[in-house]
Amino acid sequence: MAKLIKPTMKLKQQLREAIDLLFTRGPASSSDYTRLVLHCIQSNDFNQAKRLQSHMELQLFHPTDSFIHNQLLHLYAKCGKISDAQQLFDKMPKRDIYSWNALLSAYAKVGLVEDLNSVFDRMAYRDSVSYNTMIACFASNWLSSKALRFFVRMQKDGFQPTQYSYVNALQACSQLLDFRLGKQIHGRVVVGEFEKNVFVWNAVTDLYAKCGDIDKARWLFDGMVKKNVVSFNLMISGYVKMGKPDECINLFNKMQLSGWKPDQVTVSSVLNAYFQYGRVDDARNMFNKIDKKDEICWTTMIVGYAQSGREVDALMLFSEMLRGNVRPDSHTISTVVSSCAKLASLYHGQAVHGKVILMGVDSNMLVSSALVDMYCKCGVPLDARVIFETMPIKNVIIWNSMILGYAQNGEAQEALTLYERMLQENFKPDNISFVGVLSACINTNMVKEGRKYFNSISEQGMTPTLDHYACMITLLGRSGNIDKALDLIKGMPHKPDCRIWSALLSVCSKGDIKTAEVAANHIFQLDPHNAGSYIMLSNLYAACGRWKDVAVVRSLMKSKNAKKFSAYSWVEIGNEVHIFVSDDHNHPELDRIYSELNRLIGILQQIGYNPDTGIVLHNVGEEEKLRSISHHSEKLALAFSLIKKPNGAAPIRIIKNIRICDDCHVFMKFASIAITRPIIIRDSSRFHHFFGGKCSCKDHR
Ligand SMILES: [Zn+2]
Ligand SMILES: [Zn+2]
Repeated sequence: MAKLIKPTMKLKQQLREAIDLLFTRGPASSSDYTRLVLHCIQSNDFNQAKRLQSHMELQLFHPTDSFIHNQLLHLYAKCGKISDAQQLFDKMPKRDIYSWNALLSAYAKVGLVEDLNSVFDRMAYRDSVSYNTMIACFASNWLSSKALRFFVRMQKDGFQPTQYSYVNALQACSQLLDFRLGKQIHGRVVVGEFEKNVFVWNAVTDLYAKCGDIDKARWLFDGMVKKNVVSFNLMISGYVKMGKPDECINLFNKMQLSGWKPDQVTVSSVLNAYFQYGRVDDARNMFNKIDKKDEICWTTMIVGYAQSGREVDALMLFSEMLRGNVRPDSHTISTVVSSCAKLASLYHGQAVHGKVILMGVDSNMLVSSALVDMYCKCGVPLDARVIFETMPIKNVIIWNSMILGYAQNGEAQEALTLYERMLQENFKPDNISFVGVLSACINTNMVKEGRKYFNSISEQGMTPTLDHYACMITLLGRSGNIDKALDLIKGMPHKPDCRIWSALLSVCSKGDIKTAEVAANHIFQLDPHNAGSYIMLSNLYAACGRWKDVAVVRSLMKSKNAKKFSAYSWVEIGNEVHIFVSDDHNHPELDRIYSELNRLIGILQQIGYNPDTGIVLHNVGEEEKLRSISHHSEKLALAFSLIKKPNGAAPIRIIKNIRICDDCHVFMKFASIAITRPIIIRDSSRFHHFFGGKCSCKDHR
């Protein structure tokens, strides 16, 4: 690297010294100025060019032609220095088409479309470069229709399109997915002399790929006399976009066999293809083989891991990326933060947050939103709130994350207060905002408030969705108003779906067995493979002592091949995530974990814990039942945490993929007394913050 930098550094230094000298001397000749201005262009040095211009003005130097000024103009345009370019242009004694085109390109460079138009209109004469500048500027600023209008106008005004005009016009068609016009331009390309021009031909092929005719694109690609890497890349990424990962990988192999060297764009497309295919490890192998990985590569790999449910790998790779001094963009960071949220990994989440602050991207909207979500999902809404409050600009999504975050963490009052503030600050709530406030009401059993918010959905000009109805049914059912919940379903404008019936079934107690049967029968028809509903109904029968019905439901469940979710829990110790399944037989430290758990159960029984075996379905003896619930995955996770950090004061965080059962809920309350440490469990529906024998959910589970 050092060798590469030196010559330009030297060039810049020489230039500065030459111009310093100029200022000590006084007037200079036209050829001196010409030589120096070319020197400025060569080293792309805006500052020295400005000094040169001021020297000429100081010496009242008037060049005989516009060459020197045009060169300066071009440099200013290239550096995006609009006002300098405009000022110089205004002062020029003589202007020609090059001066006008240079000014035009200055405005095009920074995308000032309005000014661009007015400069173009003021031009006394134009050439094809002027038109191409306009077309390219519009096409790259997503003003594709405007670009195409200029392409037509150019020809009307008597100018032949050049290769640049074709490429830009074709790209505009691809952007607009205007296949009809694109094909017309393709026709023109064939008739004209551009058939062998690789840039134009790539644009034609890309048009077909982007507009969905991938086979025709491939046909054109195969027929290309000259190809370059871009030709391969657009075909390869076309296959990925069309969801044809196998074709993509085939072409990639062919490309390498015929001696082409893939670039970063190729590689990231092929990585995406592997991910589409679910071949995550193949993607990783390829990734490992890349010598110089750019941030696109890293991002593709990290996002791919995260989307394939391999969050831990995503996090590991992210730290590797940082160690390699590759700067992640906000998209990568927000993906990584979301992975932390999914794992509820506060350790990694905080580490990424620290990096984010160091890199100065903490005010980025995408990143802040992900951080707010992450802290809420890790059970620390207070930290989320700090970020939320310092965000200069908020949107509804971020308000929703915060409201929902409070609701799920059992801080209903905070959620509702925040919602009221959101209204005061003139944000219009959407469907998700209402799910947030209704969940808050559910968690504290606020039926009256819940009704008020539910009614306000219509007052806001929206129709309550099935999610809102499901919330209301849960709220009414839990407060003992099963009849009202049933009435609500009957009066719904939507056809009730699984969500609705599940909500109803889950709030039925043994006194509501008739309603439970109605709800369960609907679910059996709508989603026969969902084991949860069979288990819920069978538990209700068991609670009523109706063992015959228990057997009927269980054999129905078996005949429908309904599978229970395998339940698991995980904890984070240090920077490692440990996963436990119920009755775990695989963990390397199994013996210690079970003996710690038994010790804990003994202590808890002394302070009043009584294992609740009523919920166990198995037709097994009492002792077996006891063992089965004693070994639920969250209990194992707790025991493991106590082994690893016996004297800690920090909360123990456990994440569970399904809802915590009644027995574990009681167990954790007692455990929080015995170990005098907070225990936070995130289950599939909410957070439970256990401390001093109480849970934040106030047992409204
Ligand atoms: Zn349990
Ligand atoms: Zn709870």
